[in-house]
Amino acid sequence: MLKDKSELSRTELERLGEFGLIDHLAEGTKLVQPSSIMGIGDDAAVIELKNRSILVSSDMLMEGVHFDLAYTPLKHLGYKAVAVNVSDIAAMNGTCSQITVSIGLSNRFSLEAIDELYEGIWQACAHYRCDLVGGDTTSSRAGLVISITAIGSVESEVLTTRGKAKLHDLICVSGNLGAAYIGLQILEREKQVFLSDSEMQPQLEAYEYIVGRQLRAEARTDVVAWLKEAGIVPTAMIDISDGLASDLLHICKQSGVGAKVYEDKLPIDATTKDTALEFKLNPTTVALHGGEDYELLFTVDQENHAIIEGQSEISVVGHITDASQGATLASIKGDMVELEAQGWRHF
Ligand code: ADP
Ligand code: MG
Repeated sequence: MLKDKSELSRTELERLGEFGLIDHLAEGTKLVQPSSIMGIGDDAAVIELKNRSILVSSDMLMEGVHFDLAYTPLKHLGYKAVAVNVSDIAAMNGTCSQITVSIGLSNRFSLEAIDELYEGIWQACAHYRCDLVGGDTTSSRAGLVISITAIGSVESEVLTTRGKAKLHDLICVSGNLGAAYIGLQILEREKQVFLSDSEMQPQLEAYEYIVGRQLRAEARTDVVAWLKEAGIVPTAMIDISDGLASDLLHICKQSGVGAKVYEDKLPIDATTKDTALEFKLNPTTVALHGGEDYELLFTVDQENHAIIEGQSEISVVGHITDASQGATLASIKGDMVELEAQGWRHF
């Protein structure tokens, strides 16, 4: 459907062999972090992080489970694979300084295809200022597999877990919600149109923003930087990968609290709203349960209300309650709806 450069010329991976491929990848990799003492090329990378808590997080992406190459350009996939790992480090209020990338490849992939993938990986590394310091390369019979480990750090005093939200804290979200999920619905729809008539070209222009949110996720490292600048240490934080409801429930469970969220406070982009309605989906449901937004969900002490209110990129969507109240949504109509990890049936 989407043609990438890799289809125009093709170099078989066999011609390079595993070591040739690793040398080729090492050549394109530049290190910028002073903490990266040694990168690709030895038995292990060497990293020196001083006086900080070290953060390590991994994510594995499998073709057919997490991505569909019919509509995912390899460059975007590489970028997103890094971004979602950096997002996990950001969710601890930390910064990512190194990543490792392990790939499983079949002979379906050419050197040009791997170059496209790494183009995206390198682009994300440059954007987030983290170094690619190692990985592993193996053959795969089950399609493309990408496993990334992110290494980062945080000053121990500002480390933020899911576990310390307290009564009356404000519940905040960055950016807007549901865009990535609704973008995926567009891509799936256009794929079906293409499969039934290969002459049809995808109609994506009107949906550029939401499709971009699906294909090219960003980690909210800017929000972590802003919190630091503002002198705010969240009491709890998580990145929204499974949807606001499900991720807020993680905070509630791990902090031993309840939560009240207001439907009219949920940040939903206009295109997300219109497209949800086009698919006969309730925009609120999409915002609560659509995954892959990679926005940050965090709680702060009430005393920060004025500073947070002045930030256009951060919305206060509710507050923390006693555990006995559970996690609920106050709807625009005035009903109280219990939040569930997958609560489609309530709407
Ligand atoms: P070993 O046999 O010790 O596992 P490898 O031959 O797998 O070593 O890897 C050699 C070097 O290349 C190591 O530094 C490793 O981290 C790096 N490396 C291997 N595969 C990748 C990859 N896909 N991306 C980045 N670095 C890689
Ligand atoms: Mg190895």
